[in-house]
Amino acid sequence: MMDDSALRASEFLDGLAARVGTAGLTTDADTLEPHLTEWRGLYRGAALAMAAPASTAEAAAVVRWCASHAVGIVPQGGNTGLVGGAIAHSSPQGPQIVLSASRLNRIIDLDRDNYTLTAQAGCVLAQLQAAAAQSDRLFPLSLAAEGSCQLGGNISTNAGGINVLRYGNMRDLVLGLEVILPDGEVLNVLRGLRKDNTGYDLKQLFIGAEGSLGFITAATCKLFPLPRSRATAWLAVDSPAAAVQLYAAAQDGVGQALVAYELISRVALDLVVKGISGCRDPLAEAAPWYVLVELADSAPGAESRLTEFLAAQLSSGGLRDGVVAASDSQAQSLWRLRHNISEAQKLAGAGIKHDVSVPISRVAEFIERGTRVAHELVPGSLVVAFGHLGDGNIHFNLNQPPGMEREAFLACWAPVSERIHALAIELGGSFSAEHGVGALKIADLARYRGGAELALMRRIKRALDPHGIMNPGKLFAASD
Ligand SMILES: Cc1cc2nc3c(=O)[nH]c(=O)nc-3n(C[C@H](O)[C@H](O)[C@H](O)COP(=O)(O)OP(=O)(O)OC[C@H]3O[C@@H](n4cnc5c(N)ncnc54)[C@H](O)[C@@H]3O)c2cc1C
Repeated sequence: MMDDSALRASEFLDGLAARVGTAGLTTDADTLEPHLTEWRGLYRGAALAMAAPASTAEAAAVVRWCASHAVGIVPQGGNTGLVGGAIAHSSPQGPQIVLSASRLNRIIDLDRDNYTLTAQAGCVLAQLQAAAAQSDRLFPLSLAAEGSCQLGGNISTNAGGINVLRYGNMRDLVLGLEVILPDGEVLNVLRGLRKDNTGYDLKQLFIGAEGSLGFITAATCKLFPLPRSRATAWLAVDSPAAAVQLYAAAQDGVGQALVAYELISRVALDLVVKGISGCRDPLAEAAPWYVLVELADSAPGAESRLTEFLAAQLSSGGLRDGVVAASDSQAQSLWRLRHNISEAQKLAGAGIKHDVSVPISRVAEFIERGTRVAHELVPGSLVVAFGHLGDGNIHFNLNQPPGMEREAFLACWAPVSERIHALAIELGGSFSAEHGVGALKIADLARYRGGAELALMRRIKRALDPHGIMNPGKLFAASD
C-alpha cells in the first residue's frame, strides 16, 4: 500500500503528465541525472521530475499545477550556469521539479529591417547566432558555452561573454519578453521596440533574476549588421597594467571596431596547451601575460587597422610581441585557447573560482593584491587569472596545489572567496560580474548588497512570488 505522501506524489506526477504529455515528463533517475548535477560537479540536487513543456500554454499549465500543490520550480536551460542556480535542492526547500525550456526551441520571427529576432527560450545560443548570420545579421552574444546554453538561461543570468564592450550584455540586448509568472499567468511584453516609455520596464525584472521571479518562454532580441571584416590578434604584454594601457590605446586608436579584449595569464595558457589536444602556444617566446583582441567592422579593412595599430604599439614599447590571424581558421585557433581555459582548469584538478569585476583602471591592482591573498591562504596554489578585461571582469581562479588533497583544498573556498570578494568591493567592484548569485553567492549578496538594496529585492520577490515557489533557495536563503 502506498503511504499518503507517495500517493500525493503519484497524483502530482499524473497531473504533470496530463499537462505536458509523456514526451515532456522525465522521472527516470538515469535520464534525470545530468539535469541534477552542476557543470563543475559542485552541486548535486534531487527533484520529483523534470517537465519540458512544448508551448507557452503547457508551461503556464505546469506552473499553475505546481503552485496549487506548493511544489517548487527550478527553471533550467542548458545547465551551464556556474553558481548552482539551475540545480533543484528538494530538501530543505520542499519538493521541487526541474522545468526545462529545451522543447521550446523554435525561432518565431527574424525581422531583418527591424534588426530583431524573436525566439523561444530553449533555443541554443549557437542556433540563434547561425540564424542571424543566415539573414546577414549579427546576434552578438558569444561565450564558451554557446553550443549548449540557451536563450532563457542567457537572459536569466544576464549573460555577458566576449563582446560586451561593444554590444553590451543581455540586459542591453533584450527588447521584449514572454514570462510565466509564479501563479501561472502569462506576461507578454514581446515587443521589438527601441523606444517604449509606458510605465515600468517590466522585462528588466526578469533579466538576471535567475529564475526566481518567473519562467521565461520567449524573447525578442536586438540584431546588428553582420561585420564585413574581422581581425584577431594574440598579443604578449609584460603585465596586467600594460594590458590596461594597451586597452586605452586601442579604444582611442580603433574605437567602435574593437569588439573583444581578453586578458590571459601565462599560467592559464600553459594549462590549455598541456591539457587540450590541438592547442599550442602561438608565439615563439613565452610572456607573462597575453591579450586576445578582436576588431570587427561593417566596412572592409579591420585587418589593416589592427596591423597599423599594433605596429605603432610595438615601436612605442606598449607591446612585447604578437601575431595577427591570417585566416578564419587561425582566428578560431586563437579563440580556442581562450575558450578552453575553464575545461583545462577542470582537467588540472579542483578549482576555487571567482568572477569579479572592478573598474578597468583597478584591474592590475586587483590581480596583484589578489595573487598575494591566494598565496598567503593556499601556499603553492596556481593562480589562473583571465577574463574580459574590456569589461573589468576578471575570472580569478586558484587551482589545487600539487600534493594537496582535493577536499582540503576546497575547504579553503570560503575563506579565500571572502578575502577576494572583499578586495573587489574595496576597489569599487562586484563579487559577481556575469555568473550571478544562484546558490553559491547567497551570503555575498546579503553581505554586500544589504540595506535598502537587498530589502527591495526581497519585497519584489515576495510581491511576485508570495509562496516562494520559483527557484527556492537561490539568491536568498530559503528561510528569508
Ligand atoms: C565553459 C563555460 C564558459 C562560460 N562563459 C561565460 C561567459 O563568458 N559569460 C557569461 O555570462 N557566462 C558564462 N558562462 C556561464 C553560463 O554559460 C551562462 O550563465 C549561461 O547564460 C547560462 O545559460 P544556460 O541555458 O546554461 O542556463 P542554466 O545554467 O540552465 O540556468 C542558469 C540560471 O537561469 C535560470 N533559467 C534558465 N532558463 C530559464 C528560463 N527559461 N526562465 C527562467 N529562468 C531560467 C536557472 O534557474 C538558473 O538560475 C560559462 C559557462 C561555461 C560552462
